[in-house]
Amino acid sequence: MRKVYFLGLFMLILVSCNTSQKNSSDQEAYIYSVHGKVEIENLGVSLSHEHIMSRFGLNPAYIGEYDEDSLLMQVVPYLKKVRALGVKTIFDCTTAYFGRNVKLLRKISDASGIEIITNTGYYAGANDRYVPEAAYVSSIEEIAQVWIDEFEKGIDDTGIKPGFIKLAFDKGVSEIDSKLFTAGILTHLSTGLTMAVHTENNLEAATKMLQLLDQYDVDPAVWVWVHASKVEDVDFLVETAKKGVWLSLDKLKAPETEDYVARLSLLRERGVLKKVLLSHDGNSYNRDRNLKEYDAILTFLIPALKDNGFSDEDINQILVVNPQNAFKIGVRHKAEK
Ligand SMILES: [Zn+2]
Repeated sequence: MRKVYFLGLFMLILVSCNTSQKNSSDQEAYIYSVHGKVEIENLGVSLSHEHIMSRFGLNPAYIGEYDEDSLLMQVVPYLKKVRALGVKTIFDCTTAYFGRNVKLLRKISDASGIEIITNTGYYAGANDRYVPEAAYVSSIEEIAQVWIDEFEKGIDDTGIKPGFIKLAFDKGVSEIDSKLFTAGILTHLSTGLTMAVHTENNLEAATKMLQLLDQYDVDPAVWVWVHASKVEDVDFLVETAKKGVWLSLDKLKAPETEDYVARLSLLRERGVLKKVLLSHDGNSYNRDRNLKEYDAILTFLIPALKDNGFSDEDINQILVVNPQNAFKIGVRHKAEK
């Protein structure tokens, strides 16, 4: 009788430990949007790499200035259309100096009903044109501190916090690109933010990033390989995804739908569909005020995937579950060997 009682008590403790663990980890799964803390489960269908607006091709400016009326008139109706197709959240990849303007992003989000997540970090693509001078003379720790401050105190005086870190490698492995990536690792270790790194087909940079992550004992799953759709060596991609890295296939344009179906089918066959993110690298307002669309995934790719044997569950995995797992805030150390 006594034995049964203790066994029962033990089971009860086990069960309650499990539930409380589950609940606390669920509560902790969050990210910051331009509206503040958001439970990760509420992100819904997410596009992980777009530009609501950017100043690509224009001179760098710490805060992006735009003709506000013209911007809102073009972007808000387009975002409403994207929202009507089912997209709930957009990760905006325009960094400081490259056109980031978080007050405008919040205004656009309010007007369109699309949740927007902004970033910290510097964009070191485009031959480092948008890297501020300070990054060359500051230490790695000083650069990281600027980004950590944005996370802890909000960006400038807006109270808006970044939801991820945006970085880039140009060709090869330059000193400034590695320096900024290392500052990204320090920022991750302090904030738990994921790093989206423009890498394209630069396998040398990919190898360098894996090496730096290893050196700092950080899980490769903190790194989103931006523009992985440009990588020709599928074996390298699959191998990297199996280490935990997120593969961002983020350059979709409508005519490439078949190519994306083939790639996704291959990645599914190779067992890494759980590491794939999809987006367009669109831009609803650039220097020429052109609209580089970002509705092809919902309009063309999803129906094509369904025709090619992808289940609703697969599609939910790529568009809903993977972005949550990739971007939920939390420090991730390398698993014990
Ligand atoms: Zn981009």
